[in-house]
Amino acid sequence: MHYFTIEQREALQAQLRALVERLRGEIAGAMHLPKHSEETDDDAVADLETDLDIAELERATQLLRSAEAALARLHEPEFGLCEDCGAEIPYSRLRTNPVATRCIDCQRTRERGDAQAARL
Ligand SMILES: [Zn+2]
Repeated sequence: MHYFTIEQREALQAQLRALVERLRGEIAGAMHLPKHSEETDDDAVADLETDLDIAELERATQLLRSAEAALARLHEPEFGLCEDCGAEIPYSRLRTNPVATRCIDCQRTRERGDAQAARL
């Protein structure tokens, strides 16, 4: 028994595919970034810019993995169920964030936990 209709799954699939496409483009583009150290004499600025690019690239790579995982899960019966509590993730939430794997409550709990862990 699938939680979402075929139409809803297909809409999410199209959305995820577009996301994967866009991220692959972004990542490929980032691989060909000009070397900032050639653009500025200030090494500190060049280092900072390189760090930002790497952070962007890591974020894009992580999101790409999540999107690919979501595409792989899309036709599994458990797709759309919160991986922590098993509650149904509302379709509207997935339309906003198709890579979400948790309901909003569990996501908030987890983010609070991460923030606490970061302070330790
Ligand atoms: Zn949950």
